[in-house]
Amino acid sequence: MPVSNRNLDDDISGVLAAVALPDGRTLGSSGRVAGLTQSGGKISLSIQISPEEAAAFAPLREKVATGLSALDGVTSAVVVLTAERPAPPKLVADKPTKTDPLAGIHHVIAVASGKGGVGKSTTTVNLALALVSLGLRVGILDADVYGPSLPTLLGLHGKPAMGEGRKLRPMQAYGLKAMSMGLLVEPETAMVWRGPMVMSAITQLMADVEWGALDVLLVDMPPGTGDAQLALAQGTRLAGAVIVSTPQDLSLIDVRRGIAMFRKVDVPILGVIENMSQFICPDCGSSHAIFGDGGAKAEAARIGVPYLGAVPLTMALRAASDAGQPIVARDPDGPLGRIYTDIARAMLGGLDLQKAGPSPRMI
Ligand code: ADP
Repeated sequence: MPVSNRNLDDDISGVLAAVALPDGRTLGSSGRVAGLTQSGGKISLSIQISPEEAAAFAPLREKVATGLSALDGVTSAVVVLTAERPAPPKLVADKPTKTDPLAGIHHVIAVASGKGGVGKSTTTVNLALALVSLGLRVGILDADVYGPSLPTLLGLHGKPAMGEGRKLRPMQAYGLKAMSMGLLVEPETAMVWRGPMVMSAITQLMADVEWGALDVLLVDMPPGTGDAQLALAQGTRLAGAVIVSTPQDLSLIDVRRGIAMFRKVDVPILGVIENMSQFICPDCGSSHAIFGDGGAKAEAARIGVPYLGAVPLTMALRAASDAGQPIVARDPDGPLGRIYTDIARAMLGGLDLQKAGPSPRMI
């Protein structure tokens, strides 16, 4: 309905023009509105502010949201305030410097995939648990704001507590520290966010969490290679990236795009993990190479990235994930536990430990 959309655009501009800022300008002409989208009666936008302006802009944000909601044809209006660089909270820091909120973390590693549904979150959680079993202090930041699944995978409930300096305390499960958008906002809220809003939400999430000292922080990236993913890869001090792919997708353009994205911002690719490779029959235990054998390894070599290993498609893994008890926690010494541990070792082997800080304590 192009005509009614054009009218709605005008109405939105009208609302933004009617809101006066403390400096006398209107919101519409201030250049502070970002990520404005409207589709099917749903409007979302962010207002860019500096952290000190948050209190002053809160009523203004409400006014904009109310004004937009009242427009003809609008079913929902999501308006958020985003501060590009949150002020470093005044807290007695662990010992890291105040400017880098992740300074107490030796290695920040992105876990990415070219598209959704390949098992990226499942891999992140089990890989993290394998790293814990190797004696490392590990955290997971679920930055997959479009489909945050960490709370389900780890069986987390409730909201994170607030610590000193208004920092959020990460939740704890199975020896891991964990934080997820899914613990903070309703899933529908994040679904309508656009690139810049996603980015600033993730940036705040990173900066406002009391991670403390960690050997490894795994960042479960939003799937894909759009602007938000690129900005996240660029804006985070990443020691490397791991790409999760199913065997049949490995040769596809999505995976290559993911690899190209990290290379573009000089983040080393630590390797590819092939997920759902062989099918393990729950009845007889036999394995079936549905997508053929060895193809993923050869493809990784062809693309020029290390191959970290393959995780089979099994009922036990899926059932454990759904129950909020990841398979590595449930059965650390079982066949899947060993597979993830081998992958974790291979991944650590690819890190430049010299450059990034003291060596992890390996057992
Ligand atoms: P993504 O994060 O890529 O969207 P998920 O980790 O949420 O994917 O996995 C999607 C679904 O596939 C989940 O139901 C998960 O339990 C299941 N799954 C992932 N990996 C495996 C595997 N190796 N074997 C069986 N099921 C798996």
